[in-house]
Parts: sequence; structure tokens; C-alpha cells
Amino acid sequence: MDELEHFEGAATIEKVASLCRRRGFVFPTSDIYGGLGSSFDFGHYGVLLAQNIKSEWQRSMIQERDDMVALDSAVILNPQVWVASGHVEGFSDPMVDCRTCKLRFRADHIGTSACGKKPSKHPGEHSECDLTEPRHFNLMFETHVGALRDDASVAYLRPETAQGIFVNFKNVTSSLRVKPPFGIAQIGKSFRNEITPGNFLFRVREFEQMEMEFFVPPADADEWHRYWIEQRVNWHTGLGVRPSHLRVRAHEADELSHYSSATSDIEYLFPIGWQELEGVANRGDYDLRQHSEASGTTLEWIGHEERYVPYVIEPALGVGRAFLTFLCDAYDEEVVAERPRTLLRLHPRIAPVKVAVLPLVGKDTALVERARPLYEELRRSMSAEYDDAAAIGKRYRRQDEIGTPWALTIDEQTLADGTITLRDRDTLQQERIPLDGARRLLLDKLEQPWHPRL
Ligand code: ATP
Repeated sequence: MDELEHFEGAATIEKVASLCRRRGFVFPTSDIYGGLGSSFDFGHYGVLLAQNIKSEWQRSMIQERDDMVALDSAVILNPQVWVASGHVEGFSDPMVDCRTCKLRFRADHIGTSACGKKPSKHPGEHSECDLTEPRHFNLMFETHVGALRDDASVAYLRPETAQGIFVNFKNVTSSLRVKPPFGIAQIGKSFRNEITPGNFLFRVREFEQMEMEFFVPPADADEWHRYWIEQRVNWHTGLGVRPSHLRVRAHEADELSHYSSATSDIEYLFPIGWQELEGVANRGDYDLRQHSEASGTTLEWIGHEERYVPYVIEPALGVGRAFLTFLCDAYDEEVVAERPRTLLRLHPRIAPVKVAVLPLVGKDTALVERARPLYEELRRSMSAEYDDAAAIGKRYRRQDEIGTPWALTIDEQTLADGTITLRDRDTLQQERIPLDGARRLLLDKLEQPWHPRL
């Protein structure tokens, strides 16, 4: 069988991107105009998956803790914020241009980039390469606020959500009941004019970040840094990412950002190799001090007997990068009964659709009459889909490809004894359960731990 010979099983970025497009998760943006380099739109299932990722982050960061508050700050801040934070001066990547092929490369990525003339070589290795010296290229997108377009009206689209948190430190500490150690968590869009975007959602110019700034007494910062690295690794594995595909890597001194005294990356083994999934930085008191000095408003903690500028621990994760990680980790191909099957073994809590309700024969009105009310009951509590078109095998495969963990099938026996079939996406096992208890059973399953492939 030809089809099976080419069926290899392992995820690649191309396979994941193609599934995303085919099944309505992610489309290239402005597609009908030829797209816009490395920008994407999220379709129905992509929206649901991204929402689930964000809710799980919010659940673990805010809902299940009592030392955390939420924030949603503006995208365009007073431009002085970015001067004080060091971004106007220092948020840049060293870049190298090739005068021959006109391509631009990040100086620190030359060793992994492909030469424009001969892609099997790196830039600079081909006889015709003519590279410039590295030059700094600021990654912030500029815009103008108001009717005038002059230097005084320049503003920036935020390149990280963190600064919105720092400049609200006083508002938060004076209006909410918080006391170090405590955190402020925020999810929102960030923009970076990346020189070398690519690899689907891995590096894009417009992306959502989930960032949390945790304010602690300076003496406790190292301990909290270790704590947050562990918490964040557990979050990823708790949602099904294989522990064997995760590792923690501490930055070398020459890699540290201008604000950081220590950073560890949580790396994932993407199909393109080990790459940063999430950064956990110890930003020290850098940001609060910079903003205190530049704004004239002292940003410090004043307790009954103490007064200090807290240190800050920051876990920062891109929604799209987490999205890509979950998909790469969940993507699987296998051959069952001599037929290939592609599936997403997503953790049920992040799967876009939890359950599909399928009357065995779509034209059988007696079956449809039992299936529709069940579907309407289920969708009040979870994301559910009803499908009565096409052969049952085809409907199962479609659900497998979008990662739906459970399918409920209504057949002739349902009419006789009120039971339905529960099909498990991962094991393909089918069991008969009472139709009446289906909702309760699935809600219980969603609460249970789920074990990924190791
Ligand atoms: P890099 O060195 O790869 O450019 P960074 O270390 O500057 O990334 P951070 O500033 O630490 O990245 O950003 C925190 C998180 O935000 C990253 O771990 C990643 O998950 C996400 N992120 C950053 N830049 C991008 C991007 N261009 N596209 C998608 N996600 C991104």
C-alpha cells in the first residue's frame, strides 16, 4: 500500500502547519494577497486551543493561588516607558546583511542559517558571500500617536507585556491586598520586528505573551527563581508535554538580557531541535529602579517595619510557542487495521473539542432524535460537536485529527437499552455507557490526570 510506505509517524513543522491549515486551526494572514511574512490568523479550532492554553495558564497562575492578581495593560504606552526600560537603547539584535543575496541574518544565528546562494552552506561560507559587519537593529515597531507625525509623537507597539506590569506597581499595591511575595499576571499581544521570523508559529512578529512578574524580598530571589522554574516545568508536563522532550538550560553570562541577573530557558525538543519554549528570568530590581528614577514616582514596597525595592522573578511564555509545542508533542501517525490515521493526542483539558456526538447512521431519524438532545446537554458544559454526515469511520478520523478525546455514538442498541458507545481517541477502545450518565462521566474524566506517552 503506497500510502502507508510514506507514513512515517514523526511530527515535522511542515506536517503540523499543514494539518493546522487543512483542519482550520491556523491560516497564513491576508492569504488572498500573498500573506505577510510570518503572520498568522487563527481559525475556529485554533481559537479554541489557544483559549484553553490561556485559561490553563490563568487557572494555575491566578485562580489556584492566593498570591497573584491579574492585569491587562495597554499595548501602546507612554514612550518614556521604553526609554527607561532600556528598550529604545538596547532592544536590538545584531544583524548581518549579505550584499550579494540581499538576505539579512541574526549575527548570533549565522551558524544555523542557510546561505542565500547555496542553502547547504552557512552565510559567509560561499565564495560569493559578502557580509556586512554586525549592526544593531531595534526590534520595536514604531507608530505615531495623534494627528502630527513628528519626533514628539513617536510611540511603540509593546515588545513585551512586562513593562505594563512594572509601571502599574504602585496602582496595584495601593489598591489591592497584596504583599511580597506576590505576583501580577497578564496575557496580551506583543510585537517584535524580528529579523529572521520563521518555523510557523515559533518566531512571528505579532504574538501573545503570558507573563507574570513575581515581586519578592531581594534575599529570597534565588529561591523563588528555582521555585518558578519548577512550577513552570510542571505546568507543561501536567498538560501532557513529554518530560523527555523538556529541559532547563541556564543562560551563560554573555547571553543575559540587559535587565537580567539570571535566566533559565525551559527548552522543548521541537522538530527543529532544542529551542526556548519559555524563559524564567530573575530581573532583580532593575525595572522598578529604572522607572522610579525616570518617572519620579518611587516604586518600592513599604511595609510596617521595612522598605525596599523588590526583586522580580518573571516566567514569560508565548501563547503561539506553547500552541506549537502542544501540537508537535501531540501529533502522531499510526496505522490501524492497515489504514493510516493522523491524530493529536492532546490533553483533554486543552483539546479544542472535548466530545463528538455521532448518530451511527445520520439518516436514521430515531437515532438523530436521541443524539441531538444529548449534544445540546453536553455543550452547556463543554465544547462539543455534532456530526451526522459521512461514514462513521470518516467522522472518527476527522475528530482524531483535531484531537477530540472522546466520541459518543448512538446506534440501534441505544433505542433498545439507552446505552451509547464511548470511543477513546488514544486507545481506540469502545465501551458502552448509559446515555443518561454521559455528561457526568466526561466531566469527571476532565478532572482526572491524563498520562501522555513517555
Ligand atoms: P529569542 O532570544 O528567541 O528572540 P527572547 O529570549 O527574546 O527570544 P523573551 O523576551 O524571553 O524571548 O520572550 C518570552 C517568551 O515569549 C519566549 O520564551 C517565547 O515563548 C515568546 N516569544 C518571544 N519572541 C517571540 C516571537 N517572535 N514569536 C513567538 N513567540 C515569541
